[in-house]
Amino acid sequence: MPSSMMAIVKKRSGVGVEVCEVPVPTCGEGEILVRVEGASLCGSDLHIYEWSPSYRWLPLPVILGHEFAGQVVEVGEGVSHVRPGDRITASPYISCGNCPRCLGGNGQHCLEMRILGLSADGAFAQYVRLPKNSRLFLLPPEMDAERGALLEPFCVALNAVDRSGIKFGQTAFVLGPGPIGLLTLMLLRSVGVSWVGVAGRASDELRIQRARELGADLLVDVDHEDGIRKVREAMEGLGESGVDLVFEATGDPGSVSQALEMVRPEGKVILMGIHSGDAAVNPTSVVRGRISIIGAYTYEQDTWLRALRYLTVRDLAVESVISHRLPLTAASEGFALARRGEALKVLFRPGGERGVSQ
Ligand SMILES: [Zn+2]
Ligand SMILES: [Zn+2]
Repeated sequence: MPSSMMAIVKKRSGVGVEVCEVPVPTCGEGEILVRVEGASLCGSDLHIYEWSPSYRWLPLPVILGHEFAGQVVEVGEGVSHVRPGDRITASPYISCGNCPRCLGGNGQHCLEMRILGLSADGAFAQYVRLPKNSRLFLLPPEMDAERGALLEPFCVALNAVDRSGIKFGQTAFVLGPGPIGLLTLMLLRSVGVSWVGVAGRASDELRIQRARELGADLLVDVDHEDGIRKVREAMEGLGESGVDLVFEATGDPGSVSQALEMVRPEGKVILMGIHSGDAAVNPTSVVRGRISIIGAYTYEQDTWLRALRYLTVRDLAVESVISHRLPLTAASEGFALARRGEALKVLFRPGGERGVSQ
C-alpha cells in the first residue's frame, strides 16, 4: 500500500478546489479502505467549488466526491461483512444509528449525520476510507465501476420519482437536463409515463441532445422559447391544461414559479434542485389549483437495494449520462466542463484513463 495518494481537496473558503498529494487513510476499527475505480462529479460538488452559501458549513479541508465505486483493499477490526477484493459502492450518508431520528426510523435526518465528500473525506482520491456504520452494497461481478458510481445519483432520481407517486400513463415535465434530470427522464419512461418533456438553457445543447435520444416528447430551450406555453399547447392536445407532475431539477429559483405554471390543478411539483436563493411563488395559484409541492432529497432505507437490483437485471443505460472520463489531475478541466454545462456527467478515474463520449 502506498503511503500517499492524489486527491481533489476543498482546502479553503472561496472559489476553487486543489489537486493535492495527501496521506492514504489508515483503517481503524469498523472502517473499510476502498481503492476508488470511478467517482462522478455532482451538482453539489460544483456548489462546493463555487462556495455557494448553502455549502459554507463544510469543515475544511475536505476531500470531495460522494458518488463512487471501487474495490475493498483493507478492513478494520470487527468488519466481517466485506473482505478485501470485494467490489462495492456505498451511500455517502453515515447516520449514527443512536439519535432520536435514527431510532425513530428516519436515519436520513440523523442529527449526527456525516456525509462522505462533504463533511468527511470523500472519493475524489485513489483511496477512500468508509467510516464505521457505512451502508455499503456489493456490486455484482458484471457491474462495472461506472454503473456502480452512478447508483447514488440514480437513487436520488428514483426517490424523487417515488415521492411523486406517479401512476402509469401520467404526464410529466422535467426542468433541468443535467444528470439528475436525465436519470429522472429515464425512470419516468421506464415506469410508463405517457408523455414527458424536458427544458434546458441554450448552453445545455449536449444535455438536450441526450434528452432527445432518451425519448423526451418535447424539448424546450428556455432562453429562446416560452416553456409554459409549449407545455400547455402540448397538453391541450391531450385534453388537459398542464402536466400531472413537474420535476424541478435546475436549482434555479426562477424555475419554481415556471413549474407551478406548467402543472395542472391537483398536480404535483417535485423540488429536487438545491437552490442558491429564495424563490418567488404565487401562493394563490397553489391554493386554487390545490397543487402539492414536494421536497425530494436523498433516499429511503430501501432505495439503494431496489436501484441496485434494477440496474443488475435491466439494461437501463445510466452510463449514457457520463460524457467525460478524466484522471484526478484533470480536476480543473472536469469542473470547468461541468460548470459551463458542456459536460453531462464527468467521471474521475483515479486509475488514470481518459475518454470522451458525446
Ligand atoms: Zn450528489
Ligand atoms: Zn442519528
